Amino acid sequence: MIELKNVSKFYYQNGIIASGFTKVNLKLNIGEFVVITGESGSGKSTLLNVISGLDTYEEGEMYINGEETSHYREVDFEDYRRKYIGNIFQNFNLVNSYTVYQNVELVLLLNGSSKKDIKDKVLDIIDTVGLKRYKNTKVSKLSGGQKQRVAIARALAKETPIIVADEPTGNLDTKSAKQIMKLLHEVSKDKLVIIVTHNKEQVEEYATRLIQMHDGKILEDKVIEKVKNDNEIEIKEYKNITILNRLRLGFRNTFNIFTKFILILFVFFFISEVLLFEYTSLRKRSKDLDLTGANVLFTNSDTKRIVIKKNDNSEISKSDLEELGKIDHVKRVVEDDVLLDTNITLRDNEYYYYLDGNVDSISSYEGDLTYGRMPEKDNEVIALAAEYDWYLTDDYENVLETEFNLTDAYGVKTATKIRIVGIKISDTYRDRSIYYVSDKLLNNLRFANNEEYSNVTLFFEGKYYTSESYNRHIVPSNNVPSGYAYVSDMMEVLCPYYDCVNRPLKISVSNIYYSQDLNITVSKEYTKNNFKNILNTDINYEDTFENIYVNTDDYNKLFNKATYQSSVFVDDEDNAYLVNDKLTELGYKTLVIKDSIVNDGRTVAVIMQIFTTIFTVGLIVALFFISYFVIKIILKSRSIYFTTIRILGANKCIAKQILDIELFLNSTLAYILCLVELYLVKIDVLKLATLKKLVPFISLKEIIIMYVILIVMSQLISNRFSRKIFKNSVMKTMAEEVR
Ligand code: ADP
Ligand code: MG
Repeated sequence: MIELKNVSKFYYQNGIIASGFTKVNLKLNIGEFVVITGESGSGKSTLLNVISGLDTYEEGEMYINGEETSHYREVDFEDYRRKYIGNIFQNFNLVNSYTVYQNVELVLLLNGSSKKDIKDKVLDIIDTVGLKRYKNTKVSKLSGGQKQRVAIARALAKETPIIVADEPTGNLDTKSAKQIMKLLHEVSKDKLVIIVTHNKEQVEEYATRLIQMHDGKILEDKVIEKVKNDNEIEIKEYKNITILNRLRLGFRNTFNIFTKFILILFVFFFISEVLLFEYTSLRKRSKDLDLTGANVLFTNSDTKRIVIKKNDNSEISKSDLEELGKIDHVKRVVEDDVLLDTNITLRDNEYYYYLDGNVDSISSYEGDLTYGRMPEKDNEVIALAAEYDWYLTDDYENVLETEFNLTDAYGVKTATKIRIVGIKISDTYRDRSIYYVSDKLLNNLRFANNEEYSNVTLFFEGKYYTSESYNRHIVPSNNVPSGYAYVSDMMEVLCPYYDCVNRPLKISVSNIYYSQDLNITVSKEYTKNNFKNILNTDINYEDTFENIYVNTDDYNKLFNKATYQSSVFVDDEDNAYLVNDKLTELGYKTLVIKDSIVNDGRTVAVIMQIFTTIFTVGLIVALFFISYFVIKIILKSRSIYFTTIRILGANKCIAKQILDIELFLNSTLAYILCLVELYLVKIDVLKLATLKKLVPFISLKEIIIMYVILIVMSQLISNRFSRKIFKNSVMKTMAEEVR
């Protein structure tokens, strides 16, 4: 069966050659119960390991079933171990986290049996070794004697012709030791059993042959009982482990040690989190970059905005506006679109603060506030802060609830006081702040705008006055009757006898759309003392004495004649062209704002982008190594597991696949957890502001890309880990584990 001719085993360690055993000649046959004794260090274990193919030999010849083995390579010995050898060790080498049943079942699963077929067999064997009651107990909870019974059961399940036991009772008390030896004897009829022991008395009654070793040599080889059987024996052929069983073991290993499962899950969760965070931040940054452009004419450079005019420059009527609102993907129609580009500037009395931005109607504001409250009065506003608006983002405590003066186009304070009562820090990148104001304030701004964008000429007392030559404003008021004007007493100098009452006044307005004249009569002069009463206003005389007040309807005829330019906002910038086509069809001239944005300073931005990308890749690599080392520590116990299944006959490839499956499952679960977290953030159950900002950047595509990266990472970790484990021979890993 097994024959050794002049076999020697040497160890090379630090340049010194040590001898395991030298020139051993031995012939062992089926049916023998061989007991090897000898003092410690005499070479018993080394001999046993060479016989069981766990270790190599350097000299001589070893025959297995008549076949010479010097040409055997690792795979051949793997095959040999699998078919011939059942090992029993002093330290059991069981899978502690498996139950008794699972430990015995493991060897059969590895040998290609299907789970269902082997159930009875496994239970039978467990019964044979007397552990029926413990079949569902985890091995870690058993006593030493019981553990060794499991090891015997496992060796039996393997159905090999040879059972090799190295000091199987070394860790047991005398009573259990006796029982184990008895059991071994009982179950191993018709097998070759080779037992190494210190304690000869325990086995003497069963031994058919006694070999004594000394100093690496066989001192005595005494046959006690001759065994006749010298026939060729039949070797059971094995299939490879089925894919289903690989999955089953991978699955089992994922969950069977709960703390380990949670720790690895945590590591992968951490990886997923960082990956998702980094990747989406990267996407957000590149999107922000796209938005950093500007347009000097249209300062509201919202990429969802489309500016429209009629093809023939005619007015846009209320029904036109209604029709626009009904177009698919149009979210909002802004009638007087010039207002969107109106820049307002707010100054305090000391001219210390300088706040500026675009305006919009408070009615179009949606969302929550970062600081402060919603407006309650007409002069109260909300600010949507731009990225670098220091006053609003950093100095908000001083800005909130403070009264500021609105300035005119020349930066001079006007009579209008404005209070910022709420601030929202923008979720997305924006380079201009927006002030959401009341409709009354918006109207005032509209008038100022209309005046600014038109040429206004006054004809009074034989002279023309243009807006360039005379800083005089036309102001609407409901207190002035239609067809009349109220002027300040400061105008007296222009009129005969210093009296302007009843003098005619002609106002001409022209702009790119129309020209309009208004002939009215001055009916009242207001003074510093009476103007507040007359005009029912609370502004200062100094701020208004040059103004000419006219009836609101008259004013509207001049400045608020009709709408000629509007803007529509689409629901998503990707739909801008779709809506644009529809608008063109309806007879509008359009300007899609996102096409008209100029990206200056782009080069710097692109370089920045390259750096952040490099940084992200570096981060992923760093993440890989960190998680690898953490998982390596967590999986340390796995290394014993893999040694065990290799002793049982699984090759490296199978062992690796089982680990692949385990890490695949773990990372998938962690990823699902991560997605659940994101979902909870999205629906506001979890309040994580930073994550919330990134949610809009995560689509199905990103989710898939992230998953692929994570899985690749987990498989790389698995590869690296198994490479480390399998670099050494089974013997060496075993030796390392015992240490
Ligand atoms: P036994 O099992 O009889 O106590 P071993 O077979 O373990 O003895 O050891 C036999 C000899 O081989 C001893 O001298 C021991 O020091 C040496 N030896 C065993 N394993 C190694 C090893 N991995 N490296 C170097 N020397 C070893
Ligand atoms: Mg030993």
